[in-house]
Amino acid sequence: MTTDPVCGARLEEEQVDFKAEYDRQTYYFCSEECKQKFLREPTKYLA
Ligand SMILES: [Zn+2]
Repeated sequence: MTTDPVCGARLEEEQVDFKAEYDRQTYYFCSEECKQKFLREPTKYLA
């Protein structure tokens, strides 16, 4: 299990279609919208 850093949704890595690499880590998102928000301001969500 992993957590969407934008909205806090709990996700199964294998079932996630929305992924982004940042600072050599892979992050998983529940939707394209969350992924785009993260990519716009990654530091805001990793703080
Ligand atoms: Zn989300």
